[in-house]
Amino acid sequence: MEFKYIDNHAHLNFSAYEADRQETIKRAEDAGVAVINVGTQKDTSKKCVEIAESADNCFAIVGLHPVHTSKSFHDEKEIGEGGVEFTSRGEIFDYDYYKKLCQSPKVVGIGECGLDYYRCELQGASFEEEKEKQKEVFRKQIELAIEVKKPLMLHIREAYKDVLEILTQNSKLKTLTYPGNAHFFAGTLEEAKEFLDLGFTLSFTGVITFAKQYEELIKFVPLEMMLSETDCPYVSPVPYRGKRNEPAYVIEVIKKIAEIKGLPFEEVAKQLRENSKRVWGI
Ligand SMILES: [Zn+2]
Repeated sequence: MEFKYIDNHAHLNFSAYEADRQETIKRAEDAGVAVINVGTQKDTSKKCVEIAESADNCFAIVGLHPVHTSKSFHDEKEIGEGGVEFTSRGEIFDYDYYKKLCQSPKVVGIGECGLDYYRCELQGASFEEEKEKQKEVFRKQIELAIEVKKPLMLHIREAYKDVLEILTQNSKLKTLTYPGNAHFFAGTLEEAKEFLDLGFTLSFTGVITFAKQYEELIKFVPLEMMLSETDCPYVSPVPYRGKRNEPAYVIEVIKKIAEIKGLPFEEVAKQLRENSKRVWGI
């Protein structure tokens, strides 16, 4: 099947789609959208692989999200025990488990991994301890990416400086043809430039359809270094605000990028599609 658009970061693996996952995948397929579902811990990563192996237009990225390295975080839209809600259990990164998942030819990357200091609600000494734990887990996932030769899907929140420091410290990262993508990019122009210099693409969600502060960033980032994503079930684009988000809506994100760049929609869609093929090898 030939895809016209790519949702580079989706979570059809989450329980938010438990009731209508197949229909949602079908709507994406009918709209010409290929979907890369991203894992956040062991069970959501395994689910991504299962979905990818059962649907032509789906691919998987497997890894441990930084908020799941501690026990604090709670999200009712993710898969938890019994398939309803999810509370972080504080997962210890199991290198071999994730490496084994990579044996599936539909696994195209490692993540989402990185650092998230926003959701670290801890203070003082425990905050420092939490940061160190996240850094250690992130470094191990970089090692895995290098070993299995797959790019990284980065999740970064209030931690751009530390992520850049860790990435530049690892000299072997250069052995990857494409190091990866910084998802839901919300850093400064300076930080964007540093990621681009390292060879990372930057991806944007539906937030750009209603938040004006992304315009400058989107004008600045070269189109050939950009990817489109929904981050569904979160952040629905205009005109779907207030509804659950889904991969078919990535078209709205692409329209907005075209509008901000002042380029024809078809030209932007084509370039974004080529970018995804290049980075993930899909
Ligand atoms: Zn995500």
